[in-house]
Amino acid sequence: MKNICVYCGSNPGVREEYADAARNLARHLAERGIGVVYGGASKGLMGVLADAMLEAGGSVVGVIPEALKAREIAHLNLTELHVVNSMHERKALMGELSDAFVALPGGFGTLEEIVEMLTWAQLRIHEKPCGLLNVRGYFDSLLAYFEHAEAEGFLRPQHRNMLLVAEDAAELIAGFEKYRPPVVQKWVR
Ligand code: AMP
Repeated sequence: MKNICVYCGSNPGVREEYADAARNLARHLAERGIGVVYGGASKGLMGVLADAMLEAGGSVVGVIPEALKAREIAHLNLTELHVVNSMHERKALMGELSDAFVALPGGFGTLEEIVEMLTWAQLRIHEKPCGLLNVRGYFDSLLAYFEHAEAEGFLRPQHRNMLLVAEDAAELIAGFEKYRPPVVQKWVR
């Protein structure tokens, strides 16, 4: 595993535990020589993650659309910054550059990015692992929703189980290393 894509809030959240989790993840990845691919911003948990990664001597590749860069929120000291034309191009490039996908706490952007990668995994567009760092139970209500979707016949258990969930970075990355994609068709019936 060479690069992991990290989706996380462009806001820091109200609790210091979120930033601590971003820093721990960064240190864990840098120690293992695994690079980060992320949205390229200098703000919020995204900025905390990138700064901690750089401080630990790790590689950080940002992918940011021109419009967001122009608003002066791009992180300008990254290992590499790709400036693309649209959000769609950005997500496609982040996906191509990465061997796995992690979400830390975040808002709409974080949610849609990780769920898109899960959607592509269940369609077998890619076979890369996806996981949530469930800091302080932040994602519990989302996990309850996925359970509901499975119970109501909209999601296969094998597809729900593709999503790895861990409270700390070491456990999540260990799970990624053992991950095997399910061999099952998307449709429940
Ligand atoms: P959110 O969770 O809504 O804060 O959105 C964060 C996620 O969406 C990140 O993983 C980014 O890829 C993307 N994103 C949203 N806002 C920004 C921003 N201002 N700068 C860079 N990326 C952003």
